Amino acid sequence: MIMNFNILTLFPDLIHNYSEMSILGRAQKNDKIKILVHNIRDFSLDKHKRVDDTPFGGGPGMVLQVEPIYNCLESLGLVKNGKRIKKDRLKKIVIMDPDGKQFNQKLAKQFSKLDDLILICGRYEGFDERVYNFIDEKISIGDYVLAGGELPALAVVEATARLIPGVLGNVESLEEETFVEGAIEYPQFTRPENFMGLKVPPVLLSGDHKKIKQWRQKNTKR
Ligand code: SAH
Repeated sequence: MIMNFNILTLFPDLIHNYSEMSILGRAQKNDKIKILVHNIRDFSLDKHKRVDDTPFGGGPGMVLQVEPIYNCLESLGLVKNGKRIKKDRLKKIVIMDPDGKQFNQKLAKQFSKLDDLILICGRYEGFDERVYNFIDEKISIGDYVLAGGELPALAVVEATARLIPGVLGNVESLEEETFVEGAIEYPQFTRPENFMGLKVPPVLLSGDHKKIKQWRQKNTKR
């Protein structure tokens, strides 16, 4: 089973550059995930390929128009005749939004069970309100405002993708990890044993697995 991430953005290269590397790059090569990037600008019917305009009623900045986003969702078979087509509960349309539900590990786990996650990245002053008729969920990555939804979308993609079986090399690294079942990781050390007088706890060098386990349980960060 391969999970698709469809990302709608005005800056496709931001997504491409990051997702070709490391875990996301490998997961794509290994056919665990597919990251499909759609340039919202390609779906503008305007002859200058415009995607934003000034707000009705006045006010600062530019607003992302509903039409190019709708057209892009239509090309993906997700909307029709001005309505969201709801036929597949394994498909979710999420909009990146500082007002949204705060993203966390639990949501990442839920998303990792989908076949298809569609992420819409905003820019400027945000979206024409009518865009929200076509989505399933508003997601924020925290209470601060960024310039665009690309960084938030990549955070969601990465946190979700690494929970898909086979994406991380070592399955155990998921099970003992921070946030899973509320357990917070124990402190970890690697070479050298002594760094400028800062030494690794001797029990970890002892080879005594029972003692190591006890030490780790006792030293779990809370
Ligand atoms: N004027 C808007 C902010 C727009 S920021 C407001 O006050 O709410 C431009 C875009 O960046 C948003 O549409 C959203 O897609 C993205 N964005 C900014 N901060 C974000 C956050 N914390 N979480 C998710 N998306 C965010």
